[in-house]
Amino acid sequence: MQEIQEKINQYRLKFEEEAVRVRDRQGLEALRVQFLGRKRGYITKLIENLKHLSPEERPLMGKEINELKTYILAKLEEIKHNVVKTQKKVSHLDLTLPGRQIPLGAPHPLVKLQEEIESIFYQMGFSVEDGPEIETDYYNFEALNFPPHHPARDDWDTIYVEGREDLLLRTHTSPVQIRAMEKRKPPIRIIIPGRVYRKETPDPTHLPMFFQVEGLVVDVGITFAHLKGTLESFLRRLFSERIKIRFRPSFFPFTEPSAEVDISCLVCQGKDSRCRVCRGSGWIEILGAGMVDPQVLKNVNIDPEKFSGFAFGMGIDRTAMFVYQINDMRLFYENDLRLLRQFNRQ
Ligand SMILES: [Zn+2]
Repeated sequence: MQEIQEKINQYRLKFEEEAVRVRDRQGLEALRVQFLGRKRGYITKLIENLKHLSPEERPLMGKEINELKTYILAKLEEIKHNVVKTQKKVSHLDLTLPGRQIPLGAPHPLVKLQEEIESIFYQMGFSVEDGPEIETDYYNFEALNFPPHHPARDDWDTIYVEGREDLLLRTHTSPVQIRAMEKRKPPIRIIIPGRVYRKETPDPTHLPMFFQVEGLVVDVGITFAHLKGTLESFLRRLFSERIKIRFRPSFFPFTEPSAEVDISCLVCQGKDSRCRVCRGSGWIEILGAGMVDPQVLKNVNIDPEKFSGFAFGMGIDRTAMFVYQINDMRLFYENDLRLLRQFNRQ
């Protein structure tokens, strides 16, 4: 009986030693056969040995053997569970797969162009100014020489705030010029990029919301020559050194004299009478500009006898259409990644 007892203890130790080495299903099956196999398993051999014992000793040892068997069965079950779990983990982890690509965001073409414009003006000593998009009638119109009922107001179908007739969505970024001149005295050299709103039905060249950039310079002895030089240098940097630039007389209530500025067509250079971009004229209207009206300076308590200035403004969306050769402004706002990705190849 002592001999069997020793064997039971010995097998238990042996099982525990071997169990920790099992790594896969084959190892597990080999261990099971080694201990529980019907012909040569250690447990089977122990049971066979019971017949050499006396009838009193047999049930005692039988019980011990059964306990060992139960222990081994439970342990095998536990190992099986762990093996399956690790194999699952391993099958999900394929080290040969390429790394997951993390998509990087990129600036919207309109933002990119705005940043380019800002950077050109930064280098010419301008700073960037910001202002509210909901404006009062005073800043959007009156201070800029549009008295109530002035016909120039009719050019813009303004969106007013319901129940507040004195509040509106700014139709241009010009109110920020007034705010800037109220805040500080000349010299002033700023650009004002931002969103503006007009009651428009969307079509390829009109939107109820779009981006503008305006500039304002006020100092002693500023002349139209400064305006021309600044705009020529800016437009050549933005488009190409080779473009031609022309100034045409125009009218804005807040500048006198005023001009429209055209650049030579980037697509046909004025050589194609059927060009769709310039419609055969060879010129593209790109911005409006002029010398700040002395009345506007008086409105903000700047002495027009002492100071003079110039201002200009252009549509960022409209300019982006030329720069990126896009024929429909609405495409900028559709968030179609196939379009947007074309301007951000890295
Ligand atoms: Zn053309």
